[in-house]
Amino acid sequence: MIDRLSTLFELQLIDDELDTLQDLRGDLPIEVNNLNSQIQNIKDTVEEKENEKEAAIETLKSNESEIERLNSSLKKFKSQLYQVRNNKEYDALTKEIDHSEEKIKTYEAENIELENQIQKLKGDIEEVSPQLEELLEEVKVKEEELKTIVKANEREETKLSAKRETVAEKIRKSDYNTYTRIRKALSGKAVVTISRGACTGCHNVVPPQRQIEIRNSKRLFTCESCGRLLISPNVAAEVKKG
Ligand SMILES: [Zn+2]
Repeated sequence: MIDRLSTLFELQLIDDELDTLQDLRGDLPIEVNNLNSQIQNIKDTVEEKENEKEAAIETLKSNESEIERLNSSLKKFKSQLYQVRNNKEYDALTKEIDHSEEKIKTYEAENIELENQIQKLKGDIEEVSPQLEELLEEVKVKEEELKTIVKANEREETKLSAKRETVAEKIRKSDYNTYTRIRKALSGKAVVTISRGACTGCHNVVPPQRQIEIRNSKRLFTCESCGRLLISPNVAAEVKKG
């Protein structure tokens, strides 16, 4: 039983050290994440606008070639006007001419709108470009900072992680799950000891009878106040001695 308790405490000590290394990174990981998602959002918007712009340019070009085509038929119709033989032919031709002119006007009006739209999209894209540059610069700096910190502790972290794996293997699955659950819920500390009759996790008094039982190390006890696993100070001291 003592082995079961001391292994859990051993795991806690390793995790304490790993937590300290994590703390050295401060808010940098969160900041880098936030910056990256801001950057992604801007990039998505720019891409959307680029696509819209491309589509508008396509339509504009196809309208222009339509106008060109209509203009050349218009020219043909107008020259035919001089060769008409009767009113019926004349009416038919003028109808064609009116129709073509109407269509040209519609395309031209649409193109003016498209030009405006393209200019506006270009402006929108250019407007966010300095902001994007700034964010990219900022994230680069923060990523470098983070990399430096991670690199400085890389060897120690690798060593601790390997040690953790060895210790974790010795722990029975149910204990490990309990440990993980408490650690997650109570920000870090899952296994604590008692000191001056109180739980060192939450500083609430542990009943005297319970204190004796904990010192006997016959089974796993949890603090009635905070739910952390409680182990005897003797066991803790032995583990710390290594
Ligand atoms: Zn407690």
